Amino acid sequence: MGASNLQTTNRVLLEVKGLKTYFPLEEGTVRAVDGADFVIERGKTLAVVGESGCGKSVTAQSILRIVPPPGRIIEGELLFHRYTEDKDTFAVADVIDLTKLDPKGKDIRSIRGNEIAMVFQEPMTSLSPVHTMGNQIIETIMLHQQVSKAEARERAIDMLARVGMPRPSVTVDSYPFELSGGMRQRGMIAMALSCQPSLLIADEPTTALDVTTAAQILDLMRELQEEMGMAIHYITHDLGVVAEMADSAVVMYLGKVVEEADVDSLYYNPLHPYTRALLRSIPRITEDRRQWLEAIKGMVPDPYHLPTGCPFHPRCLQAGPECSEIDPPWIEAEPGHWVRCVLYGEGATRADTGRSDSVNHAYGER
Ligand code: SF4
Repeated sequence: MGASNLQTTNRVLLEVKGLKTYFPLEEGTVRAVDGADFVIERGKTLAVVGESGCGKSVTAQSILRIVPPPGRIIEGELLFHRYTEDKDTFAVADVIDLTKLDPKGKDIRSIRGNEIAMVFQEPMTSLSPVHTMGNQIIETIMLHQQVSKAEARERAIDMLARVGMPRPSVTVDSYPFELSGGMRQRGMIAMALSCQPSLLIADEPTTALDVTTAAQILDLMRELQEEMGMAIHYITHDLGVVAEMADSAVVMYLGKVVEEADVDSLYYNPLHPYTRALLRSIPRITEDRRQWLEAIKGMVPDPYHLPTGCPFHPRCLQAGPECSEIDPPWIEAEPGHWVRCVLYGEGATRADTGRSDSVNHAYGER
């Protein structure tokens, strides 16, 4: 199990250690998260990247303790650090292991929506269709803060203005169905940020939007992050967004975090064969138009019948005979750069021969 991945002093906001979240079903157990280790730093953006079904959304649900039944956290720690108000010292006031909290109890309810908030891919799944935008924001504010309804309404209008909602004193009384997709997403961001969380979890918040609106929402999140100093846990399958938004990134495959690094290291020096394959599968502006993009070999395996050893071995171009037997450990291959693959660390089974081709491909002019 990985230790604190990015060795930092007074910067850690959330430390995810050896997290495992399983779903026991009649057909078998789905190991949705099966070894997640990473650190989110105060005020920074960590992107979580991977294909559908890799466990990135269940990791976020685990942090908020909203894993739908019969799923449950079976192992690991989620250490949430609270800091004192003193901005000079940034001393840690306390550290809470979120896995130890009752998912329905008052402790997690006082954190959820308040210190840790979330925006989803499709706002209509989380916004109530029968309440106005304003009432939903007011309710969130009043749940966590001791303010009158009139004051909460003022704050809701102010928040709607900050997220660029047109005529906020009017849209505050609009129902979600009366707003466009981009406006609903802005409304959900306003609701999420209304209590000034220290961590915002954003689960593919721009996927359902057109390109122009998506770019506006990304700009907005960056601006608000700068203004409010919150950290962002950004879930995406889009490596282009990672390059634009994140300070560091983790790559997940079949429930496991397989690589963690700062964004430059991940793009210029990817270590895990899966990360390299992902990078080779994205187009570059400088790409020769006649060149085919490289697809990752094979399919994501059936979640009930996961491969033995390294779960990526049936699709890995560098797999060796040992890879179907060894479950690779999580190791720090280079300072601050963590990977789960037998090609690295003191126990490396053989030399890494895949480095040069992927590095040449990876985002030359980023
Ligand atoms: Fe490929 Fe083996 Fe590394 Fe897995 S452990 S990524 S199969 S080289």
